[in-house]
Amino acid sequence: MHFVSGVNGFKNVQFPQAALSREQIARQIQECGLKPTEQRVRIAEILMGTPKHMTADQILSIVRASDDPISKATVYNTLKALTDHGLVRQIHLDPERSVYDSTRASHHHFHDLDTGELLDINPSEIEFSRFPTLPEGMEAEGVEIVIRVRRKGDRW
Ligand SMILES: [Zn+2]
Repeated sequence: MHFVSGVNGFKNVQFPQAALSREQIARQIQECGLKPTEQRVRIAEILMGTPKHMTADQILSIVRASDDPISKATVYNTLKALTDHGLVRQIHLDPERSVYDSTRASHHHFHDLDTGELLDINPSEIEFSRFPTLPEGMEAEGVEIVIRVRRKGDRW
């Protein structure tokens, strides 16, 4: 199963997504109703500068390496706020590991089981020929495919 959380307020975002400057990131934070504090913008810039996938720990280690370290709680709270406001998406690959994705446009993923990495799949490369009838009274919010891959011949 594959769960994506985050407000879907960016349905018109095109894939692939363009890189964002620090100013554009600060403006987006403000436009979604969050205060663009110095720390928030710095954390958001790591993830949102170019489209990428990162775990909270990877973001934390980059923050830790800077001269003005930000607390772990601030990093986690900021990531949650960015997710809740639809600026990034949180992909729950398994219960222990979730990855933040700065590409808001709907797209699919290869999940490399050897490295844990996610690779984007352009939505135009997947086509559905059959789709189940949705449960009564429900509408589809999004469909995202994860194709799990591993290096050939590594299994034994
Ligand atoms: Zn992605």
